Amino acid sequence: MKRIYLDHNATTPLDPRVLDAMLPFLKGSYGNPSSLHGEGREARRAVEDARDSVAALLQVDPRDVVFCSGATEANNWALRWLGSLPRQPRRLLVSAVEHPSVLEAAESQRRDGVVVERVGVDGTGVLSLAALEASLAQPCSGVAIMAVNNEVGSIQPIAPAWDLCSARGVPLHVDAVQAPGKLDYSPGALPATTLSISAHKIGGPKGAGALVLRNGARIPPLFVGGGQERERRAGTENVAAIVGFGAAARLAALEGAEWRTNLAGLERAFLDRLTSRSVAFVRNGPDATARVPGTLNLRCGGRTGEGLLLALDLAGVAVSLGSACSSGAARPSHVLAAMGLSKVDNLGSVRISFGCRQTVADSIEAADRFAAVFSGGPSVAGPG
Ligand code: PMP
Repeated sequence: MKRIYLDHNATTPLDPRVLDAMLPFLKGSYGNPSSLHGEGREARRAVEDARDSVAALLQVDPRDVVFCSGATEANNWALRWLGSLPRQPRRLLVSAVEHPSVLEAAESQRRDGVVVERVGVDGTGVLSLAALEASLAQPCSGVAIMAVNNEVGSIQPIAPAWDLCSARGVPLHVDAVQAPGKLDYSPGALPATTLSISAHKIGGPKGAGALVLRNGARIPPLFVGGGQERERRAGTENVAAIVGFGAAARLAALEGAEWRTNLAGLERAFLDRLTSRSVAFVRNGPDATARVPGTLNLRCGGRTGEGLLLALDLAGVAVSLGSACSSGAARPSHVLAAMGLSKVDNLGSVRISFGCRQTVADSIEAADRFAAVFSGGPSVAGPG
C-alpha cells in the first residue's frame, strides 16, 4: 500500500534537488570553512552562497543571517537573550500558542527570577492584540510571537504587534518556521528584532536553521570558543546541511507561489471528499483568510485523535496530534486549549499538513482512507 504522508508541518521530505546540492559536501568536499587553504576556501564559499540564498528568501541582509542547528536553538537563543536584558522587571510576554522551544525557553528562566506571561489568542488561534496591548502597559523585557502557528496554521498579526512593541522600545522575537513558501510575502518582510527559521520545513535537511538579526540587533553568543558566524555562533559549520538549506531556500523563493496554489487545492480536495463521504468533522482554527494553506486541524465527532492517528497509520496515512514534538503521549494540545477547546474536543483533534509537491489524487485517496477508518475509532472518555 502506498503511504501518504500528511505531516509536513513536523518535517518535509528532502527535495531531490537539495540532496544533489548537498552530496558533493558529504563526499569529496570536506574542508573546514575556517581553514585558509583551498579546501577550506571552497567550503567557505559554499556556506556564503547558502547565506545569500537564505537572505534572498527572507529579503534580509546576508550579514544578519546567523546559521545554527535549527529553530529550537534559534528560539532558545533569542528567548534567553530577551530574558537576560538589563531591564526591571525582567518580564517576558509570549503568545499562548508558541512552539515549546519558545515557551519552555521562557519558562525555564523563571528560576532566575524572570516573570513569564502568556498572551491569549481568540477561538481561532489568532493572537489578541488587545491582550498584548494590555500586557504591554507594564514594563517588559521582550515579546515572542510566531508568524504562523504550526498546529492550526493561524497567521499572527506581527505588523501591528511590532508597532505596539516598538512604540514602547520592547524587542520582538518572531518564530517564522512555518512561514516560508506558505505566506504570500517574505517572512523577512515581517518586522522583528530577531527571527528564526529552519531548513527541514522547506524541503531542506534537518539540523540547519538560522537566527536572523534585524533592525541592528546584537545578541551575545549562546556558544563561545570559536570565531565562526562573525563571533556570534561558535562551532564548525555543518557545511552540507547549510548548503542544503541554501538550495531549499532558493527553491522556496522560486516556487513559493506555486506551493501555495497547490496546498490550497490539496486542502480543498480533501475537505470536499470528506464531506461527500459524509464524515462529520469540525475545523479548528481560522478560515482561509487568516490561515496558511495546507494545514488542517480537525476534530471528529467524539473520536480520539490518538485512535484516529493509529488507525490512519495502519491505513498508510501519516497525520499528527497537535504538535508532533509532543506526540507519542496523548497530552492535550496547549494551542487548542488556549483556543478554548474542551478536553474532549482537544483530545479528539488531528492535524493534517500537506506537502507542496503532493497531488490531488493523493489527497483524495487520503480522504477516502480517512473516511474508511473514521467510523471505527474509540470515543474520548470523560467530561471536557
Ligand atoms: N517552531 C515551530 C513553529 C516549529 O513548527 C518547529 C518544528 N516543529 C520548531 C520551532 C523547531 O524547529 P527545529 O525542528 O528546527 O528545531
